Amino acid sequence: MAGERKALLTGITGQDGGHLAELLHEEGYEVFGLIRGQNNPRRETISRELPYVRLIEGDLTDPTSIVRAVEASQPDELYNLAAISHVGYSFKNPTLTASVTGLGVLNVLEAVRVAGLADTTKVYQASTSEMFGGLDYNRPGAGYNEDSLFHPRSPYGVAKLYGHWIAKNYRESYGMFVSCGILFNHEGERRGLEFVTRKITDAVARISLGLQETIELGDLWPKRDWGYAGDFVRGMWLMLQHDVPDDFVLATGETHSIEEFLTLAFAEIGIDDWRPYVVQNPEFMRPAEVDILLGDPTKAERELGWTREVDFPGLVSRMVAHDLSMQSSAVRV
Ligand code: NDP
Repeated sequence: MAGERKALLTGITGQDGGHLAELLHEEGYEVFGLIRGQNNPRRETISRELPYVRLIEGDLTDPTSIVRAVEASQPDELYNLAAISHVGYSFKNPTLTASVTGLGVLNVLEAVRVAGLADTTKVYQASTSEMFGGLDYNRPGAGYNEDSLFHPRSPYGVAKLYGHWIAKNYRESYGMFVSCGILFNHEGERRGLEFVTRKITDAVARISLGLQETIELGDLWPKRDWGYAGDFVRGMWLMLQHDVPDDFVLATGETHSIEEFLTLAFAEIGIDDWRPYVVQNPEFMRPAEVDILLGDPTKAERELGWTREVDFPGLVSRMVAHDLSMQSSAVRV
């Protein structure tokens, strides 16, 4: 029945916030979303695309606002998705990243306690594969799992690691139901244009329509374990339906380079060789890079029954199709 269970999502304007709000709405939840800023330009989009979401103003760096949001929504489930989430941006804004992505998690956990909901509200913390480094110390050659050692290589990864450990600490110290999803990259139609996958699919659509000639990118060799966001938010939800709070890796178990992404994306518009269209710009290269990320989702598959439906070619194809349709309608207007 609609409204039976309540969920509060921080990061409602982000990629995962949109997918998760849709899923929770379909599951019959009353969905609340934390939105920041005096005049957030994404408010209009959210109100149009997710009209059932009740927006509450607040900022992860303002503890009182989070307490108010928790008190107003009285959530059965709180999904903490808000973060400064772009690795490259975190190198340029490390202190802000530490405040939002790291300390913000503490503010959320404390808000649940202050509101007197520590025994009833289940919390999901959005941890990340960027907490791992370039080496798997435990199992060379194998994918990272829940037991792999952490070695973050960006201010983002370091801030997320604080968030991960403080979340575990509140689980252990106060007995709160707090689960951390260690998610590998997941992309889709809602991905921000600043992220490399969406930057590529948007540019491919524009190149195909003659609106753009080239695309500027940083390093092309890094490999990532890329899945579809719609599949991954279902895993987040399953974590909070599990009997006990725990940590789970969500990944596809495959890793692909940015070059492979380019090859598939350009093939969608009938171009076999992407090289003439790509300009490498040192501005987009990072002071430290994670060369390869590969995840092992065995635990989530076994204990949560989580599976993914969209594979790597399917992901690229649907992102290009979406951007072609967006750009074509913009041209028509
Ligand atoms: P996005 O970057 O798309 O969204 C980030 C969200 O955080 C936005 O809604 C943004 O709101 C909000 N936000 C930023 N700063 C603040 C603040 N000070 N107070 C309140 N809200 C704030 O991220 P995704 O949806 O892709 O990811 C969701 C979470 O999962 C993030 O924590 C991310 O780090 C993590 N993650 C994502 C992965 C991925 O591949 N997508 C992989 C692993 C983890 P605004 O509109 O105001 O900017």
